[in-house]
Formats: sequence, C-alpha cells, structure tokens
Amino acid sequence: MNELSGGPVQIALAKPRMVVCDVDGTLCDVRTIRHHVDPLLEGFSGKRDFGRFHSQSIDCPANAWVVELVRLLSVEGWAIGIVTAREERWSFLTTLWLAEHGVPYDQIHFRRNRDNRSGVLVKSDILASLSRTNAIGLAIDDNPGVVGLWQSSAIPTVVVSADGTPAKLGLCHHFAPGQEFPDVREFVRRFQMP
Ligand SMILES: [Mg+2]
Repeated sequence: MNELSGGPVQIALAKPRMVVCDVDGTLCDVRTIRHHVDPLLEGFSGKRDFGRFHSQSIDCPANAWVVELVRLLSVEGWAIGIVTAREERWSFLTTLWLAEHGVPYDQIHFRRNRDNRSGVLVKSDILASLSRTNAIGLAIDDNPGVVGLWQSSAIPTVVVSADGTPAKLGLCHHFAPGQEFPDVREFVRRFQMP
C-alpha cells in the first residue's frame, strides 16, 4: 500500500525502447584494418590477428552518419545499447573511442573474454538478456549474419554497407522495400515504434 494515498503503488511496466548498435564496421570505420582479420582481403598475413585489429581500431574514424543517427535517437528518448562482439578486454579502448567520437549510450555489452563462438551466437545471448528489460525497437549493424538475427527477431534494422554507407532500406517500418536511406533527420522523424 502507498503510505501517502493509501492506494496501491503504481509501477511503470512499459519497457524503455532501445536501439542496439554495433561497433566494428558500423559506428567505427575499420576498412583500413580489416585485413588483419579477413583472409579474403589484400594484406592478410596468413593468421587472423584480432589483437592488432582491435588495438589499431582506436585510430579509426567514425562513420559520421551512424554517430549522428545514434545521437538523434538518444535525443528522441531512445535508450542506446552498444552491442559488440569485441571481447571485454577491449572495453577500455572501446569506451575511449566512443567518448572521443561523442557517441552517447546507456548500456554497452561485450563478448566475454575467450568466448570463441560466432558473433551471431554472442549477440543472440545479449539480445535475450537485453529484451528482458528493454523493448528493442531498432538495430544498426553491418554483419549480414547479425542482421539476419535482428530480422528473425522482428527488429527493424538499418544496415551499414561494406563501404560504410547506408544500405537501402526495407527492414524498417514506414519505408518501402529497397528504398534509399534518407537524410538521417528524415529517417528519425519518420521512424516509429511498431
Ligand atoms: Mg560489425
């Protein structure tokens, strides 16, 4: 019972709406260092070197339109969940990079150290955890497998192309399949929770 009114205590049950956003290839433009971990790229040494990849990522630029999108969503009241398949041991470097590029966020989730599962499985676990207390209403990612995860969970998704530009829409409410990504402000204005 509420001490003041004598009536039942009111508890807000609505989950806060959250956008989940990836780091590598999404917020962070890693094209100049991807050859450290991608055997298909010129300059690959013969062994995937995540240590070199992540340590050099601190000097990578941001995809400015993704940062702007996250900032605008934050201003509009969305909770920002940074969801990355980087191991926890890169958390300091990652949060430093996010701060240097002015990326706001409410939560950040990493892969556990020495968890060698695929990024899709790691993010699937994070999604299950986040969904208990948040309404995941939008995702931003560049990895086709992870985009498939968000899609299979009915989460509208902004896809970042391999060249760092926005892919055509089709996974988002209020946009026709294959529609060009509009201006970031226009996207946020038109995008609504289902
Ligand atoms: Mg990525």
